Amino acid sequence: MARILAPTDEGIRQVTAALAGGELAAFPTETVYGLGALALNPAAVRTIFEVKGRPPSNPIIVHVLGLDEAAPLVTSIPPLAQHLANAFWPGPLTLVLPRSTIVPDEVTAGGPTVALRSPAHPVARALLAALGKPVAAPSANRSSEVSPTTAAHVQTALGNRIGLILDGGPCTIGIESTVLDITGEVPVVLRPGSISREAIEAVLKPSYSFPPFPPRLGEGGAEGGPLRSPGLLERHYAPRSIAVLALPEQIEAERARLSAHGLRVGVLGVSLSWGEGLLLPADPEGYARGLYAALHELDARFDALVIEAPGSGPAWEAVLDRLRRATARGDDKPEREAQGLLPQQG
Ligand code: AMP
Ligand code: MG
Repeated sequence: MARILAPTDEGIRQVTAALAGGELAAFPTETVYGLGALALNPAAVRTIFEVKGRPPSNPIIVHVLGLDEAAPLVTSIPPLAQHLANAFWPGPLTLVLPRSTIVPDEVTAGGPTVALRSPAHPVARALLAALGKPVAAPSANRSSEVSPTTAAHVQTALGNRIGLILDGGPCTIGIESTVLDITGEVPVVLRPGSISREAIEAVLKPSYSFPPFPPRLGEGGAEGGPLRSPGLLERHYAPRSIAVLALPEQIEAERARLSAHGLRVGVLGVSLSWGEGLLLPADPEGYARGLYAALHELDARFDALVIEAPGSGPAWEAVLDRLRRATARGDDKPEREAQGLLPQQG
């Protein structure tokens, strides 16, 4: 088991020393807990991929205090980056920029860009300040599984693989950052997050005249493109249990269908209780804050989860993205289909 440290000066000192020595350590951010390593130390970054079981083709976000610390990692800070950082940093906006030569291939998955974020969490900031170096950090979970929003989640997922977890309490945002690629002519949202497309547009509008934001990148985008078919989605942020997304009027039928297979079925509802399971708030911020903790808990209690579709419209984009991926069919699709365990409507 990893040692869980309180975010005192001593706790921060121990985690700083571990990172400075090339080790990994988990730390809190406002989005989810991160699994950190020195970003400019290729061997340390390689360990992140081993510990997470992460495909080497998936690049890692580098955490910095602000633009001054970001500058050496990129070829230049364009006015657009300056503008966005002024508006949203520190906070849950990750900017993708052309990388400088000091950034190892391990961080960028060999690509010409680097993703940078300035976390707002005071413990993350204290750690970055004490270390004085950029920290590469993906979410502190095994690849494709549900991200951690508490130190206990990290302990369960990675406690036998890492030494230290800095405990900063439950994450206040609860889902991963918005990833915005600003290397092209028009900014592109590669991953929706709590900073919405509309919020970004509102900040840019007075100074920039982009055409309306294009939808997310098509195939080949970092986290996938527009939803052509749920079956095409990369399974990610996913519980171990069978999980299906259902409209309120489909919930009873889904529960009955899964129960008929002898599975213990839990429902993740919004506002209204569906019996066995959990409820989340009906507003997007509250829902996002509680989502991963709910999935961790339901996963431990049930074999199958029916997730009530919580809402629609721009404010729900990031949450719906995570729910679609959490319920995307994995490699076991043919077996589950044969057993009649997948919903008819797809
Ligand atoms: P996570 O591992 O959960 O922190 O997710 C990191 C996200 O940032 C993934 O979607 C990555 O694909 C994306 N990302 C990181 N670096 C880059 C980059 N250089 N270009 C595009 N996307 C990136
Ligand atoms: Mg992740």
